[in-house]
Amino acid sequence: MLGRMQDWPLLMHKIIDFAGIQFPQQEVASRMVEGPMHRTNYGEIRERSLKVAKRLERDGIKLGDRVATLAWNGFRHLEAWYGITGVGAVYHTVNPRLFPEQIAWIINHAEDRIVMTDLTFVPLLEALAGHLPSVERYIVLTDAAHMPATKLKNAVAYEDWLAEADSDFRWAEFDERTAAGLCYTSGTTGNPKGVLYSHRSNILHSMMAVGPEVLTVNAYDSVLPVVPMFHANSWGLALSCLMRGCRMVMPGAKLDGASVYDILETEKVTMTAAVPTVWLGLLHYLRKENKRLTTLKFVGIGGSACPPEMIRAFEEDYGIEVRHAWGMTEMSPIGSAGALKPSQMGLSHQEKLAIQAKQGWAPFGVEMKIVDDEDNALPWDGKRFGRLKVRGFAVVETYFRDEGGKILDDNGFFDTGDVATIDPNGFMQITDRAKDVIKSGGEWISTIDIENLAVGHPDVAEAAVIGVHHAKWDERPLLVIVPKEGCEPKTEEVLAFLKPKIAKWWMPDDMQVVREIPHTATGKINKLKLRESFKGYKLP
Ligand code: ADP
Repeated sequence: MLGRMQDWPLLMHKIIDFAGIQFPQQEVASRMVEGPMHRTNYGEIRERSLKVAKRLERDGIKLGDRVATLAWNGFRHLEAWYGITGVGAVYHTVNPRLFPEQIAWIINHAEDRIVMTDLTFVPLLEALAGHLPSVERYIVLTDAAHMPATKLKNAVAYEDWLAEADSDFRWAEFDERTAAGLCYTSGTTGNPKGVLYSHRSNILHSMMAVGPEVLTVNAYDSVLPVVPMFHANSWGLALSCLMRGCRMVMPGAKLDGASVYDILETEKVTMTAAVPTVWLGLLHYLRKENKRLTTLKFVGIGGSACPPEMIRAFEEDYGIEVRHAWGMTEMSPIGSAGALKPSQMGLSHQEKLAIQAKQGWAPFGVEMKIVDDEDNALPWDGKRFGRLKVRGFAVVETYFRDEGGKILDDNGFFDTGDVATIDPNGFMQITDRAKDVIKSGGEWISTIDIENLAVGHPDVAEAAVIGVHHAKWDERPLLVIVPKEGCEPKTEEVLAFLKPKIAKWWMPDDMQVVREIPHTATGKINKLKLRESFKGYKLP
């Protein structure tokens, strides 16, 4: 017997309708690539999304077609998403930080029919356009006054294109499992793989992501999604902010410490989220310029391990609550977040900090387990570590075009490629990516643990640990650091700092100082590249 309730399909247009109808005056402020701040609101964004949808139909875009966006976080990117999904087409967020050949590869793989681009990426696309046969037209996200002369096929300024339609449009109706968004993983090994989000998975994920135990967004917040919309839906913020009706501040292209500080303060931001490298830049700027943050209350940090020292600095030095979260493109992306459980509220400040440094527990909608090499579930004792597997309402089932074939195990679990422990309170802690783990004499060494400790040294700005060849132990850890400005930490000093804090056989055999540690397109330490640059390195 079926329940007798309405079948209200979970479609993306319900989100923009909600924001536009309940919060029409709520502001969306965007720092424009063209220069100044632009101010609009959800009422106008909804009207313009309807126009985008109508105009796309005139260009022949229909159910299932892909429309690429190469764009920073800004109001036009937002209305484009809702317009594209409003006709049943799929927004394909392209990460502009990928290598040009990878960008061409994924646009071809997705067979994007239209590319919408910020001004920033016009030269990049001009260089690639000859290799992008599926693209019929390029829409530059700007107005006539800023439109560059370009030979891109059927190029048009977005504002001119949009002016050719009115907002008299009815959102298309279709199954909630219809594809809505496409995002490729950066593919540090092999070709990138496309994760094809559905309307349903996007909505359920966003509802989960805004909860007070996850990213904590509500109508009274001013939210700055520093995490780009091209990085797994800006962790759902480009959807969940509208679901809550909160004010949005879009940072555009400038994501260095000084620019992030400037927009946090001038726009009175209360909540923000991004990868640790962004916060490294901000904290450096705050210290150097002796600045305070006067409105910010909460910062979500994830994408790579957040060092405990970063949590301490935000909380103790600046009075800002940190929520450490873990996830991946394949999970839409949130898989866990580290809000303290009620039973932990009475712990000491230090004990709480130690718990917050873990990646946290799986919220409703995500199931997780850790398994050994024979796929046996391991106990949640906070000690045994194994491969982390997940399943849930916003977790990938198969990659776009079935790349990689069957990716779930017989119980429907997806192997994340991460190695983790889970403690009796359900707090998961990532010890490594399976491909970065160091195996020394047959035992695993957690590189993340060592890196977290190393950045606790007062002279160390950033740290990475990689395995280098060792005749006896196969591999031994090498610590690579970037010193803080004006500091010259010595190897003996840093190693002596680590020594009392870690097991003897985990101690790095040596340390190297570099000016910069390479990062991937999503802001993670690029260990593959780092290992390559230390290939043949001889331990002392
Ligand atoms: P990619 O960079 O491969 O395109 P993602 O951006 O989806 O893919 O990255 C997902 C991976 O990032 C996770 O599998 C995990 O290894 C790492 N990661 C994400 N958040 C954290 C975190 N808080 N701590 C440690 N690792 C993290």
